[in-house]
Amino acid sequence: MSIKAPKGTKDILPSEINDWYKIENAAKEVFEKANFKEIRTPIFEDTCLFERGVGDTTDIVNKEMYTFIKSDRSLTLRPENTAGVVRAYLEHNFYRESPPVKFWYKGPMFRYERPQAGRQRQFHQVGIEMFGIQDASADAECIMLAVEFLNKLGLNDLIVEINSLGCPKCRQEYKDRLKKAIAPFLDGLCEDCKNRFEKNPLRILDCKNEECNRLFEKYNLKNTVSSIKLCAECDDHYKKLKKYLDILNVKYEENTFLVRGLDYYTKTVFEIKSNNLGSQNAVCGGGRYDGLVETLGGPHTPAVGWAMGMERLNSLIPNSETSKIDFFIVSDNQPEAVKLTYKLRNKGFSAEFDYNTRKFAKQLEKASKIARFAVILGEDEINNNYFTVKNLIDSQQTKMSFDELCELAKS
Ligand code: ATP
Ligand code: MG
Repeated sequence: MSIKAPKGTKDILPSEINDWYKIENAAKEVFEKANFKEIRTPIFEDTCLFERGVGDTTDIVNKEMYTFIKSDRSLTLRPENTAGVVRAYLEHNFYRESPPVKFWYKGPMFRYERPQAGRQRQFHQVGIEMFGIQDASADAECIMLAVEFLNKLGLNDLIVEINSLGCPKCRQEYKDRLKKAIAPFLDGLCEDCKNRFEKNPLRILDCKNEECNRLFEKYNLKNTVSSIKLCAECDDHYKKLKKYLDILNVKYEENTFLVRGLDYYTKTVFEIKSNNLGSQNAVCGGGRYDGLVETLGGPHTPAVGWAMGMERLNSLIPNSETSKIDFFIVSDNQPEAVKLTYKLRNKGFSAEFDYNTRKFAKQLEKASKIARFAVILGEDEINNNYFTVKNLIDSQQTKMSFDELCELAKS
């Protein structure tokens, strides 16, 4: 039996790689313009980092982690990168620098989920994290950068949803109100929701189970509990965020039931959705996490960030073409073909020759598939020191010198 890629993973093939470069290059350009620096953290970390950092009432920690033991040490493939970035921030004493400290990252994440369209077990995220700023201008900057990055990729038709979860103080009253509203039909909810009821009732609002959602509708849960009542400080922060977004011309919708799946969020949470993604419609999720650095053993540090699913982004942008090399050398004189190939590569062009020295017709056929120009190097060309160049797009054939050849490919 032939071996296949594990369920929920995908090869990214050469024919698709230009789309990935497009996303990665746009990220680098947009984030670095705003002075975010790239950080690359390990793909696996100590399991306790995620248990403490992502939270042990989340689906990620309870069900989705790829955990393994090596030398009595429990390690986990990273399911997300915020915890790893915070760990690195502390390990390398970035908190001693004058704030803000701004990072961006990209790379593979691993979650043991049910694979379906837009949901894989190994997937990729690109994200930003900003440390040290409490003011809502930081939240607005992060949301603005997400929008700018999406616009750069040609994606304009997106919905930015925002909400404020307040601080632990304002959340307590809301949790109590929520529990009271849910109690009458708690028995009908899924096992996850039953567990969340005591540990983290807010996340019941994020449940994706159909039966739970049916009961929420039936008992009119959202209207019964209405929205969180923010304390003066959180309310002021949320108002400021909206003001900044207005100034920056970022269009948003308020969704008072947006809670997000992770435990660490405080105040601002947001999601960016696309109507073109089907049921897995969120491209971007993020928010403020003022308590996380402290939870992971550091000093109190306000922070805000987001992550985007790169596969979901990819499915929204038009496919790019596979890139072609500049020159393919068509020749029956292998040493001369090799020499010319390297001469062109040294000038900065991409070039290849026919390793098997097949018939000219076969070589030309190959050239037309992979290159912009075929350089024909026959006996006459070699003896008289010129090249016959065939433009493989318009089939025009011209005789020229090496310098002219180089000029042609630059144009
Ligand atoms: P979802 O509600 O779709 O499960 P999430 O709340 O678990 O998303 P986050 O942890 O906030 O997602 O991750 C941010 C983004 O990463 C998501 O908006 C999505 O685009 C992407 N993402 C998350 N999980 C997966 C996955 N299993 N496969 C592909 N992309 C994913
Ligand atoms: Mg999820």
